[in-house]
Amino acid sequence: MEDSFLRCRRFYRFEGALGAGREGPNLKAALLGKTPRYAPDRAFDTLHVFLDLAVDFRRRSLSGTCRTTIRAFADGLRRLEFDAVDLRVSGAEVDGEAASSRQSGGKLILSLKKPLSASQEAEVAVRYRVERPRAGLHFVYPGPHSPANPVQVWSQSQPEDARYWFPCHDSPHEKATSEVRVAVPRGFLAVSNGVLSEVSRRGPFSVFHWRMSQPHSLYLISLAAGRFSEITQDWDGIPVTYYCEKGREEDARRGLGMTPKALAYFSRMTGVRYPYEKYAQVAVAEYPGGMEHTTCTTQTDAVLIDKRASLDNDMDLLVAHELAHQWFGDLVTCRDWSHAWLNEGFATYFEILFQGHEKGDDEADYELFHNAQVYFDEDSRRYRRPIVTNTFKHPWTLFDRHTYEKGAWVLHMLRRELGDGLWWKSVGHYLRKYRDRTVETSDLIEAIGEATGRNLKPFFDQWVFKSGYPQFRIQYAWDPKGRRARLWVLQTQEVGEEAPLFKMPVEFRCAGRGWARSFSERISEKEHRFSFRLPGEPSNVEFDPEHWILKKVAFHKPYRMWSHQLLNGERAQSRHEAAVAVARWGSEESVRLLERAIRREGFWGAGREMIRALGSVKSEAAFQALKGLLNLENPKMRRAVVEALSQYRRPQTAALIAPMARRDQSLLVEAEASRALGALRDQRCLGLLVRNLGKRTYRDAVSAGAVAGIAESRHPSALKILRRMSRPPNGFWARAAAIRSLCDYARLSSEVVGWICELAKDPDERVNLVAIGALGQIEDERALPALKAALTSPNSRIRVYAEEAIARIRAGAPDKNRK
Ligand SMILES: [Zn+2]
Repeated sequence: MEDSFLRCRRFYRFEGALGAGREGPNLKAALLGKTPRYAPDRAFDTLHVFLDLAVDFRRRSLSGTCRTTIRAFADGLRRLEFDAVDLRVSGAEVDGEAASSRQSGGKLILSLKKPLSASQEAEVAVRYRVERPRAGLHFVYPGPHSPANPVQVWSQSQPEDARYWFPCHDSPHEKATSEVRVAVPRGFLAVSNGVLSEVSRRGPFSVFHWRMSQPHSLYLISLAAGRFSEITQDWDGIPVTYYCEKGREEDARRGLGMTPKALAYFSRMTGVRYPYEKYAQVAVAEYPGGMEHTTCTTQTDAVLIDKRASLDNDMDLLVAHELAHQWFGDLVTCRDWSHAWLNEGFATYFEILFQGHEKGDDEADYELFHNAQVYFDEDSRRYRRPIVTNTFKHPWTLFDRHTYEKGAWVLHMLRRELGDGLWWKSVGHYLRKYRDRTVETSDLIEAIGEATGRNLKPFFDQWVFKSGYPQFRIQYAWDPKGRRARLWVLQTQEVGEEAPLFKMPVEFRCAGRGWARSFSERISEKEHRFSFRLPGEPSNVEFDPEHWILKKVAFHKPYRMWSHQLLNGERAQSRHEAAVAVARWGSEESVRLLERAIRREGFWGAGREMIRALGSVKSEAAFQALKGLLNLENPKMRRAVVEALSQYRRPQTAALIAPMARRDQSLLVEAEASRALGALRDQRCLGLLVRNLGKRTYRDAVSAGAVAGIAESRHPSALKILRRMSRPPNGFWARAAAIRSLCDYARLSSEVVGWICELAKDPDERVNLVAIGALGQIEDERALPALKAALTSPNSRIRVYAEEAIARIRAGAPDKNRK
């Protein structure tokens, strides 16, 4: 799963919808609890699930029969229990004979007249109906709140919501083959797992019959239907299909077109060819992100990218993430959610590997850099936990920055520990050994041991079963007599029962005129003193120059070294780090140096960070330099210049930025310019911002930018505009921006909390999540009743968000650092 609410940085200024970086209350007890959880027992093995269904869009209902083939584990099996919530069961049969059934506590319980003996198989048929499903299955309609919506239905079962649309043993350790036969109104297309074996007519309906011949976990069974167009490509004999609403075909090709390349890359690198008969992606409305349903990933309709947006947007990371899951998550599945990182850490790391392969190491490094930042943020703002833990209240909680981003970093460090050859050998062995099965982390450790002879238990203990990350303080000194660089390395993180003192190999790189030396050392203590004999005094010394380690570093070395690194650092990440250090000097010389580095920077990510660093100087010289950089060609860098300039509240800035807010080739520059204009508080610009509110663009980018700008302008009419923009029929992304901005007004107007509480009940569940996140940011106990009501939502993610918001309010430590 890729959750676009949390994995937010890819989306225009969505950061902070759930609260941005600040030391927060420790939410560990509130969110994770203290009770360990274990996967449930199974009385039978599920062999095959056949859903024979009909969709009624008019009634928002689904009806039909779920036929499950089971095999008993032990003699005397009389009572069959299935997870089933809100299902209206009208009858059940076992091997053709009527069986009595009752429902209780979220279970459907069938009583057999004749008990099953060990290894005996039986077919259980349950006739049922789902009306207005509250979870698991989602109907999309046009309506007053979203007039542009298509008519669609889609399922989303992970982690435990399959039970809302079919009876099953709803736990990832249960794998079975599956079949979905579904009747939809003619003109609609229904997509599910595996191969389409038949399309037939039944009165006014078309019936699509899909068969999945390899076992997969039941949360991966999918149904998506709409008036789709079908685009088929091919990779090495495997059909690669995209489904989207008619008229959006070109947009789908733009957003999803990398799929065949990613199929080739993952197949080649893992040594395990794409394991299924087809790969489809279905783009649907109101979908919260991407979900790796086996052979038929469901994607947010944000993968449909129009031509203008494609200038500075792509969906390659999301596409690669969901595709990587077909190996890591679908073919090999975590046995229970405690080990969810085996799905998500791998998918997140493989999107980065693909990014590096397609666009170069600098892109991959930059992605890893962001991953580290969001993980650090969660570690300081929410809680610190081991990646693998069975102490959690709801499995959704575990789909967090520890599981995804830290998980990806652990695999990155593992790759370095093993070296590329043994890393890929381990990955291939792990996939082959456990294909079609489920795994825990110990299985990965064992597979690595078998493939490489290495015992990596200490590595996993440190990074996966314990918490935290190393923080280093490094001091450099030159000893001219002995011609030695002296380095004093300290681990400064708090070491306790949960977080260790870290042990790892590290590299130091020293470079001078015409020479370079690398030194590998092992760090294991709180304090180390190293000294390296060199040909002469170095121009620069770098610690971990290839950025292999998840860490924070405070490196104390001379300005001349930082400036050297800024202009000559081999990796973009090194240049970007140097820019931050150089900016701290704040001198005119450092400003000139930054400007020079930005102009010659080849990688936009490093360029953007350098521009931000230059912006942080906040001197007249920095302003003049930024002004000059407005002519940069790369739109992502230009956007950073606009952002940096918005800190200079003067009429001249508004004059520079206003033309870009009126119209820029780049959507993101136009959006950022709209926000920046507001931030400048030049009241003459309000008319322009109000006009931009109505611009229809990809993901409401420009209107969301204008919303943020109006909020930051503190104009007397801002509150009224924000309220209007937070409500239908505005697009979701504009609404989200408005809700987030309303947070800032909660102290200025007592009405705001009530408005946001209202939005926590909006028909669009994505809006609920944003509103609940916002309430968690506002110090106001009046939000508690609305949040408590959200705790009863069948949508587990809403419950988890509400729990967090309540915990934040109760902890009484709301965001006081907001602008
Ligand atoms: Zn995922």
